[in-house]
Amino acid sequence: MTVAVLSIGSNIGDRRAHLESVVDALGERLIARSRIYETPPWGGVEQEPFLNAILLAEDSDWLPDDWLALAQRCEGAADRVRDIRWGPRTLDVDIVTCHDADGEIRSGDPRLTLPHPRAHERAFVLVPWAQARPGASLGGIPVTELLDRLPAAEVQAVRPLDPPRGW
Ligand code: ATP
Ligand code: CA
Ligand code: CA
Repeated sequence: MTVAVLSIGSNIGDRRAHLESVVDALGERLIARSRIYETPPWGGVEQEPFLNAILLAEDSDWLPDDWLALAQRCEGAADRVRDIRWGPRTLDVDIVTCHDADGEIRSGDPRLTLPHPRAHERAFVLVPWAQARPGASLGGIPVTELLDRLPAAEVQAVRPLDPPRGW
């Protein structure tokens, strides 16, 4: 049994529909989801704002690779193109962290690095995660503490969409 924390984002086309497509693909695996947040782009490429959310999902048989396969299927279905690093995208699905019965799974494999090596420094990951799971931690550090380490302006720039419309 594994539980995965997925960070999903979109800044091209029908952003909300792209996020919803991951919820649909997870089906009964979905156990919690954050609200949807509008967030400034991260990484220095000038581009449109993103919608981001966090999804928590569970499967009794899946291993980490199965979550990556699902992420890549969803990105493929949204015609995700990779040209500019950290550039615009219809849909990005990252595995932030994955737990099994023994705790947080660690992997240095570049194809699937766990926990995600940049999640701890991204307000667009941490803010929705703390909202969906107030007690969450990453690498043994509470998500709220990771948020305290980020510049306040970056945290404040991650704004929940109003009204939540079911999220
Ligand atoms: P970032 O990883 O900094 O968020 P990105 O999402 O734009 O950047 P992608 O082009 O979507 O990067 O992914 C590049 C590769 O990262 C993928 O082919 C995938 O195999 C690999 N990867 C490694 N660890 C993870 C992870 N935890 N979740 C998703 N993909 C990962
Ligand atoms: Ca990403
Ligand atoms: Ca990605």
